[in-house]
Amino acid sequence: MAIIDVREISKNLKEGLRNEVNTFLDNGMRKPHLSAIMVGNNPASGAYVRNKVKSCDEVGFKSSVHHLDETTTQHQLLELINSLNQDIEVDGFILQLPLPVHLDAQELLAAIDPDKDVDGFHPMNVGKMVLGLDGFLPATPYGIMMLLEELDVQTAGKKCVILGRSDIVGTPMAILMSRKGKHQDATVTLLHSKSKNMQQELLQAEIIVAAIGIPNFVKTEMVSPGAVVIDVGINQIKDPSTKKGYRLTGDVDFETIKDKASFITPVPGGVGLMTIMGLMKNTLKAYKNTMNAE
Ligand code: NAP
Repeated sequence: MAIIDVREISKNLKEGLRNEVNTFLDNGMRKPHLSAIMVGNNPASGAYVRNKVKSCDEVGFKSSVHHLDETTTQHQLLELINSLNQDIEVDGFILQLPLPVHLDAQELLAAIDPDKDVDGFHPMNVGKMVLGLDGFLPATPYGIMMLLEELDVQTAGKKCVILGRSDIVGTPMAILMSRKGKHQDATVTLLHSKSKNMQQELLQAEIIVAAIGIPNFVKTEMVSPGAVVIDVGINQIKDPSTKKGYRLTGDVDFETIKDKASFITPVPGGVGLMTIMGLMKNTLKAYKNTMNAE
């Protein structure tokens, strides 16, 4: 069993990014710049945006946040997106989800310049990912792919079961794991709320990626000994013994599975850190593209 030390992995990856940025700065170039749009006051979104800003500081990026009122209209957001698309000082930007219900996220995401779409949600980048063309990969699956690479997990021909088919995690993860390449080439099963025989499916998995948003859904009797377990879930559960009155837990019943899995990611301190790495890497890539730098 090995609980993956994602903090250490992400610290080392950040150090690598920081060194790359320093080389550009030493050559008189400006800092890479990531911008974030946040609408309303969703506390989880606020925490995610703060973490992204902190990570930008750590790797030497400039960051900026456009924090808009809950009542912002679709038209106002489209205008802001358009101005960020035109701003030559902004290399990449993200629209923090979820948005208030009166806003159409799909239309807004499609309005982002694909060359600045560092979350990898624009249909153009999704299409490129499906075809294996160079573009921006969605940050969470990209981060998980980096993790598999860092741990040198052998994936070719392995049975990988992905739980959840969201546009931002499960579906792109299934595509990436099944494409040709190192740390890919897996045989993938994608489970969702209409799937049957989930326990049997999961028991066959050599690699499990859980992303459904149900605390501790994956139980020990669903996991084979030696499986690699990647827990994407971030769920708040009430806990009066903590200062905030809640604690974070994943989609996997960590305590009962940690001794059975060959590798397992904790929550917190797991995939969330790798998502930020995906975003940072994409931002540096966007910067290199704009600055014509290698
Ligand atoms: P989502 O949009 O909430 O969708 C959940 C998916 O799980 C759907 O595909 C749904 O199936 C499926 N599902 C729901 N209940 C199920 C059940 N009982 N059995 C089987 N499948 C079921 O997913 P998401 O945005 O990917 O988020 C999933 C979790 O990951 C959340 O806890 C979220 O906070 C977390 N997350 C973490 C990160 C990170 O960086 N660590 C990033 C993104 C999300 P249907 O499609 O059939 O409805």
